[in-house]
Amino acid sequence: MQPSYGSSLDFVPLFNEYLTNKNPHISFAPPRGWILHRDMRFGSSYTWWGESKERPVPHEGVDLLHYVNRNGVPSTLTSSICLVSPIEGNVLRVSKDFLGQSVWLRHSEITSRGTLLHSVYAHIEADTGISEGVSVGRGGVIGTIIEKQSSGAPPGHLHLSLFFAPKSLPRDSLDWSFLSSHPDVRLIDPLQSIF
Ligand SMILES: [Zn+2]
Repeated sequence: MQPSYGSSLDFVPLFNEYLTNKNPHISFAPPRGWILHRDMRFGSSYTWWGESKERPVPHEGVDLLHYVNRNGVPSTLTSSICLVSPIEGNVLRVSKDFLGQSVWLRHSEITSRGTLLHSVYAHIEADTGISEGVSVGRGGVIGTIIEKQSSGAPPGHLHLSLFFAPKSLPRDSLDWSFLSSHPDVRLIDPLQSIF
């Protein structure tokens, strides 16, 4: 039987741990290691690449690209890095986004007020094993970061969203406007995610 996380999970340190397990050449300065420009943060109103522009809606997650490794050296995620899920999940949807693909996962073991944790790994190239209905174990590969697409586009990065929503979420409706406007979706800041 798998151990249960109960009601306590600190997503990002666990994500970092599984990321370094899968990609032994990278490491993170504890406890989180990520370096986020102000506009890479949750709720930011502006873009962080090129000429800063107002976002259509406040940023629905965090953009992960730069980090400090265990030796204190600033580093950058590259497209060779395998992105992983730190908790078990079920793939609800794989959709296109403006840079690549978005993988929508439901994590039934983490609950809050009768709703379930969900995550979105966006702007990535989904792994060949990732499709709707597939189960992903702890440390399971989700995909890889894609290269910069054009001169005006942001550098390849992982956009990570976390949210709580009911189990009955209609998978065909999952898109970015649903995420930012549906009353049943409660977005949370992945860097503050201790629940
Ligand atoms: Zn983003």
